[in-house]
Amino acid sequence: MIRRTPYRRATPDTSTGNNWALLGICARPDYTKRADELWWAPTSKRGALAEAIRLCHECPVRKACLDEAMRIEGSAHKERRHGIRGGLQPTQRRRLYEELERRRKAAA
Ligand code: SF4
Repeated sequence: MIRRTPYRRATPDTSTGNNWALLGICARPDYTKRADELWWAPTSKRGALAEAIRLCHECPVRKACLDEAMRIEGSAHKERRHGIRGGLQPTQRRRLYEELERRRKAAA
């Protein structure tokens, strides 16, 4: 079985400088084993999701993680966003995307 991590990367992608993902708490061996039950927990598992979010908020690469989620997920509907990334749930990331878009358009 292939374990999912928030990035589903087995090796760092040095060509794009994305090796920051290896510094994330979710990439640590003890947490990689628990990624499915924490970062990918179903929405009914509130305790597990809360633990993933807490860990994200302690993560040294949270900003890079969230920036990448914004870039990769783009305007995707919340139903097409999955898991906890950068400490935010899919609906929260969609709202953040909309807010960033509003600001970008206002500044243009
Ligand atoms: S912020 Fe969360 S999802 Fe992102 S790398 Fe850190 S622990 Fe993983």
